[in-house]
Amino acid sequence: MTILTPAAPLLPRVDHDAARAAVADLLRALGRDCGEPELVRTPQRVAETLEALLAAPPVPTAVLPNPERVDDLVVVTGIRFSSLCIHHLLPFTGTARIGYLPGEHLLGLSDLARGLHAFARDLQLQERLTTQVADWLEHTLRPRGAGVVLEAEHLCMSLRDASTAGAVTRTVALRGALARSQALQDRFLR
Ligand code: ZN
Repeated sequence: MTILTPAAPLLPRVDHDAARAAVADLLRALGRDCGEPELVRTPQRVAETLEALLAAPPVPTAVLPNPERVDDLVVVTGIRFSSLCIHHLLPFTGTARIGYLPGEHLLGLSDLARGLHAFARDLQLQERLTTQVADWLEHTLRPRGAGVVLEAEHLCMSLRDASTAGAVTRTVALRGALARSQALQDRFLR
């Protein structure tokens, strides 16, 4: 195993007490009585939940050698993921397709999902998440090509407007040979 570029995102410092107080302030600003029995522990719960959802595990950086010279597309599909929309603090959830065209190294298949999940534990834009995963693959693995497709439903859309319920946003990031070759793109996206 070779360790290449570390790509761990910087973890923000969390002030738990301030987060809890801020949730209580928000509830009061929304006209809610924080003394109501069902709401008494809500600030604590919301703060803990957000802290857990934003605690990113490390991004995988260990790659495997490729002695057999595997050179065809490696693609994992149907990777379920969820993240928090940076604009509304509401979840977006969906599935990912991640692939690469190997060069000198391979990546453990489950590490493809781990990388996505690490970047998803953040306040995110789906577009930025897609790009970050593609950049991570490029920098860590140095593949000949890489591709990431995310398809997700955003609750900030579907909860507010029933007509958009179930609408899926699709974002794509392609790198290297996958960005250049239509034939490879067709095989990756098929
Ligand atoms: Zn949103």
